[in-house]
Amino acid sequence: MPIGAPAGTTPGYCSSCNAPILWARTGRNDKAKPLDRRPKGDGNMVIENERAVIFQPRIHTGMTRYMTHFATCPQGSQWSKGELRR
Ligand SMILES: [Zn+2]
Repeated sequence: MPIGAPAGTTPGYCSSCNAPILWARTGRNDKAKPLDRRPKGDGNMVIENERAVIFQPRIHTGMTRYMTHFATCPQGSQWSKGELRR
């Protein structure tokens, strides 16, 4: 497994802006969700039990946080419209 990819995630690149991302499964429907590959101190997601979950301060203290790529992608509006695929 490449350095920097937590268990349960797959490194890749955004098909829109080419930024390095991690594909992380979510607990809800097993759909892969893109996260910025570089951890972020104020990120809104953490990897817990190999799943991407919303960061909750009281539960995930001290865990590495990631920002969902939807929030940082320059083409984010296209993501939300569902026009981009992995
Ligand atoms: Zn992007």
